[in-house]
Amino acid sequence: MQKDLFRLDGQVALITGGCQGIGLAIGCQLAERGAIVVAADIAIDTFAPAMARLGAISSGHHVVRCDVTDRASIAQAVAEVVARYGGIDILVNNAGINTARERVTIEHYLEEDWRRILSVDLDGVFYVSQAVIPCLKARGGGRIINISSVLGLVPARLQSGYVAAKAAVANLTKSMALELAPDGILVNAVAPGSTLTEGYRQMLEQKDGIFYEKAQSLISHIALGRPGAPEEIAAAVAFLALPASSYITGVVLPVDGGWTAGYIREW
Ligand code: NDP
Repeated sequence: MQKDLFRLDGQVALITGGCQGIGLAIGCQLAERGAIVVAADIAIDTFAPAMARLGAISSGHHVVRCDVTDRASIAQAVAEVVARYGGIDILVNNAGINTARERVTIEHYLEEDWRRILSVDLDGVFYVSQAVIPCLKARGGGRIINISSVLGLVPARLQSGYVAAKAAVANLTKSMALELAPDGILVNAVAPGSTLTEGYRQMLEQKDGIFYEKAQSLISHIALGRPGAPEEIAAAVAFLALPASSYITGVVLPVDGGWTAGYIREW
């Protein structure tokens, strides 16, 4: 019987930063398609609510503490997953931060911010991929989906660390795809545009749900005229994890409401 191209039954998915925001939405969508989800996160206070969300979909999911900047923490998390489930089939490198103290130009950009952002957003992808690739190979193949950003494709001002890290993730995705294709490991990236996670919503929206003026100017660059929902990013990630996408590798897919398609202007 032909396998269902739109199901992930029994596949084990490890999602970094998986207890909140886009990562949790990805976990929910993979769980809905039958995957066993392991949310690996540094934010321990989010473990119980994340497990509750995943548990409401199906049973068997797990949360593990993992700091993607720390190889020992990653090794421990991966060993725990393998001991519990016997292997890993899907890795989503989602953990990421964009928390510079100030929005300033390159000559004032703090080295501390540069190091912290690069260490989570880029080193983290490198470290976790290195730890998980042997597990995917042991299964005879698998999927890696990296979360880049529209700002990795079309840079913005005043965010040097973030734009550099996310551009690097986009290009790293392609070289990983080339290197790992012979092992049956497909590597793709999703580049989200502005996405209304709870944290981001607080930055953009006033109490009455109306967007701040600054947020309006940001939204004016989006062809669809609104930010995305975490579920809309997760849907693209889920597709890239499914058997249905078996001929797609090395792609960086913008999921951005048209942000990177071009300028919105009359002429
Ligand atoms: P959130 O902050 O909502 O969730 C990210 C999760 O990752 C948090 O639980 C966070 O914990 C965790 N995390 C942070 N540092 C580490 C670490 N060192 N190791 C493991 N986990 C860590 O982020 P989003 O859902 O908004 O973003 C998810 C991804 O999508 C990121 O890569 C981001 O850059 C990307 N993205 C997001 C966009 C958006 O508009 N939201 C737009 C474009 C890209 P804690 O809360 O403690 O920091």
